[in-house]
Amino acid sequence: MTTAKAYIEQAFATVKARNPHETEFLQAVEELFDTLEPVIEKHPEYIEENILERIVEPERVISFRVPWTDKNGKVQVNRGYRVQFNSAVGPYKGGLRFHPTVNQSILKFLGFEQIYKNVLTGLPIGGGKGGSDFDPKGKTDREVMNFVQSFMTELHKHIGPSLDVPAGDIGVGGREIGYMFGQYKRLRQFDAGVLTGKPLAFGGSLIRPEATGYGLVYFTDEMLKANGKSFNNQTVLISGSGNVAQFAVQKAQELGAKVISVSDSNGYVIDETGIDFDLLVDIKEKRRARLTEYAAEKSTAQYFEGSVWNYEGAADIALPCATQNEIDSEKAERLIKNGVYAVAEGANMPSDLSAITIYRDNGILYGPAKAANAGGVAVSALEMSQNSQRLSWTSEEVDNRLKDIMANIFATAKETAETYDLGRDYLAGANIAAFEKVADAMIIQGVV
Ligand code: NDP
Repeated sequence: MTTAKAYIEQAFATVKARNPHETEFLQAVEELFDTLEPVIEKHPEYIEENILERIVEPERVISFRVPWTDKNGKVQVNRGYRVQFNSAVGPYKGGLRFHPTVNQSILKFLGFEQIYKNVLTGLPIGGGKGGSDFDPKGKTDREVMNFVQSFMTELHKHIGPSLDVPAGDIGVGGREIGYMFGQYKRLRQFDAGVLTGKPLAFGGSLIRPEATGYGLVYFTDEMLKANGKSFNNQTVLISGSGNVAQFAVQKAQELGAKVISVSDSNGYVIDETGIDFDLLVDIKEKRRARLTEYAAEKSTAQYFEGSVWNYEGAADIALPCATQNEIDSEKAERLIKNGVYAVAEGANMPSDLSAITIYRDNGILYGPAKAANAGGVAVSALEMSQNSQRLSWTSEEVDNRLKDIMANIFATAKETAETYDLGRDYLAGANIAAFEKVADAMIIQGVV
């Protein structure tokens, strides 16, 4: 009989052989598979049903040409994608990323993570992800609109409220979602349920912009409390300065922490008096400017080139909120040396596999992305509920639901880790709990 360990190794070898160049995707699969031995041992039917080889294969990958006209009247071409990964639990759901680094490997890693993240919310949504190698940075509003209209002209054929419901991610915020919705409506009809992260003017949910950052802090707060700690008076390092980072700064400070950093792809700001949320939002959202302006305007702030994880000062908690693979083993070791005892991920896969090993070996409290940053998609699912009921809930109502969902996700990760005798390994707890639900749903539906 094949053992769980041998089965996992053989399934991973097959994924590697089939996707030899998709490094980010392979990394996400390895991170999940590394934690599954105990649950596969308990469920021999997963081996009989060959669930691992099925779960790593997207149901569908759509890739398309996106021609558009720039401000000089020149035709530009980008590549668009939608990865419809798994619909065992509900319609595909996951964001769209516009960033020059976007490729199929990155979207498959994000779509794969999204399956488990979505199931952890307890809401009926499957996993997907999409986007383009288009770079909105430095483009005029009109150029962004031209691109987005062309992107949606193809994407609309593949999405719908009960089929696939995209949202935002890196480079896709309220402006881009607004243009996407406008074009979808011209091509099809007004249907609020086709996208989430919509502006409030046409079916958006209160607290959706805040949801990922707030949810991250709610999750981390639960993790800290379960270990006799809290945000109060703690020094926090945050990377990124976009949607997730901004609201993580705001909520962590509300809970009594001092957040001393934010970053962008060029450098980082250290402000020992605590990041000024209003100034940060003004610079990033209203002016669409760089963080150098923050340091120029705030006398207590200093700007440094490079990664914030090279910072050598003392800190207690790290919340990476920028992008994948920001933290490698060297940076993880530096964090620990500087006093960090908890890391919770707002970004997707910000810690590489070697960094995760270092957190584990040093007993760091670690909140993995698929659990810690699920607040965004959870409130997106609440937006879908409000749209189908033609209702708008108050901020307080949505925020309370978000808090409950994040507390439940932490409790699920913790209890599952305890059930399997894995101590405080919340990564394994979250992976196992989510995988079991998706695998069971797939098996019940037959060979599909
Ligand atoms: P934004 O586009 O609003 O902000 C992204 C931030 O990350 C910017 O500060 C950006 O800097 C920085 N960044 C992007 N790419 C890199 C890079 N290669 N190196 C260093 N910094 C980089 O995106 P979000 O805040 O929405 O997303 C941040 C992370 O959170 C992503 O991993 C995303 O997948 C994840 N996430 C987002 C959710 C959401 O609801 N928005 C939900 C769950 C997860 P610069 O301006 O210089 O590019």
